[in-house]
Amino acid sequence: MKTHPRVLLVDSNPDDRALAALLLRRELPDVEVEEVGDGMVLADRLPLGGFAAVVTEYRLDWGDGLQVLETIRSLAPDCPVVFFASEGNEAIVAQGLRKGLSAYVVKGSAGYLELPTAVRRAIDRSADLRASREGLALFQRLTDELSLGTFAVAADGRLIAANEALARILNAESAEALMGRNLIELLSDEALQAQVLAAMARGRAVRGLEAGVRRANLDVTWVRVALWPVVEPGQGIVRFEGALEDITGHREAERELSERAAALGRSNVDLQQFAYVISHDLQEPLQLITRYARLLAGNGSIAPTLDTKRYLTNLVSCTDRMQAMINDVLAYSRVDTRGRPFTDVNFADVVQQAVGNLKAAIDESGAAVSWDRLPVLAADAAQMVQLFQNLIGNALKFRREAPQIRIYAVEEPERCTFAVADNGIGISHEHLERIFGMFQRLHTAAEYPGTGIGLAICKRIVERHGGRVWAVSEVGRGSTFCFTIPRSLTRVRAGETPATKE
Ligand code: ADP
Repeated sequence: MKTHPRVLLVDSNPDDRALAALLLRRELPDVEVEEVGDGMVLADRLPLGGFAAVVTEYRLDWGDGLQVLETIRSLAPDCPVVFFASEGNEAIVAQGLRKGLSAYVVKGSAGYLELPTAVRRAIDRSADLRASREGLALFQRLTDELSLGTFAVAADGRLIAANEALARILNAESAEALMGRNLIELLSDEALQAQVLAAMARGRAVRGLEAGVRRANLDVTWVRVALWPVVEPGQGIVRFEGALEDITGHREAERELSERAAALGRSNVDLQQFAYVISHDLQEPLQLITRYARLLAGNGSIAPTLDTKRYLTNLVSCTDRMQAMINDVLAYSRVDTRGRPFTDVNFADVVQQAVGNLKAAIDESGAAVSWDRLPVLAADAAQMVQLFQNLIGNALKFRREAPQIRIYAVEEPERCTFAVADNGIGISHEHLERIFGMFQRLHTAAEYPGTGIGLAICKRIVERHGGRVWAVSEVGRGSTFCFTIPRSLTRVRAGETPATKE
């Protein structure tokens, strides 16, 4: 239920009081007027409060209006007080104004008529004041909650206002304790101090300035500062206001992240070197084993029993397999180290070349390979040939019947998605991700030859180009391998990974 604002009317003269009440009720119908003509009643009534305004005659039988004003100031500081004073009391009125009197009206016919307007204004002004104070308190709570320091400084940088969040950030006892300190001098870098002071001298705003500030305990915390001039009409710049945000946490996180990225980069390089060294150095003894095994199998120097023949054949096929694995590990480690710069690559040429390289397998399996119009994109041409060769090679290998292989591209503004679709044996859903890992195979070498590194190489090539690779499949019906190549690729130097990542 909406309650009407209540106005207390204090006057010990019953006639004057009745007239004033009549006028107030007539002109301010939404206001409830409560009349008091007796000191005792007033003393009981005032502490109950709840008045939107108090109108009091200056001269009262039991005292004066200044006493009423003081009592109200102490009980309800927000409640406006309007004096009703007879002429010749200007000195009293001036005293009242100093003590927070809202308005005064001279008793007399004109004054009576002015009274309702004066009361209405006083009520409205105090409501406005309350609203702006509440708004300010909300703003204060918000900035405190967000740990956003807000402040005002004089032209020389001296703090003239601050919130508690600023005190917390600067490790000061309270906002009050910061008053008079020079905010600019708290900046730990003298060049930045000069920069801010120069901007202020030119009446310019400063935004997004990251700086260290010395806190009360002398340690330095990192902050982001914004500062702007406040101009009053006719006076020019009267102060600078600003906000200060503690970014120590962000910087710490950024530092950790870059350290981790550097460590990751180092371990990646170590891993590549390791893969390269073992695959490279293992080749020599392996080639020797292979050569001796072939010699033994072929030169008849030992009496070949059926068993030794079988053993030697197995030995040769094991070494062949190991050689293939080593070659693949080497190829994997070279995706980044031997990558070439990106140039404009015509993907129709790339597919043509991959198909040419696989001619024997295509002819042998009776496969039909077809492709639609393919785009030109920035990429490493040799790696694109290797990528398509691996995918088409798999489609030829994991076949059920004569392979039907279709290659197509879907062009989007940001990227291009390529697909290699086959009608082969398919892959069950739970293996669709792990097949891109190193040495991950779903069959034995006897069922389907291979090392299990082909798709891992594909993934590494695509990721070097800032794209991603995935497969969709249905067992017994076929698989589609897809990968994206972003269009925003800049030409990068060999071995460098482009910044774009999907
Ligand atoms: P590899 O071909 O040497 O076995 P890959 O890394 O190329 O190694 O492939 C990993 C596994 O993914 C394969 O062993 C196979 O089980 C499965 N796979 C890859 N491509 C296809 C395909 N087109 N159809 C069915 N299975 C496939």
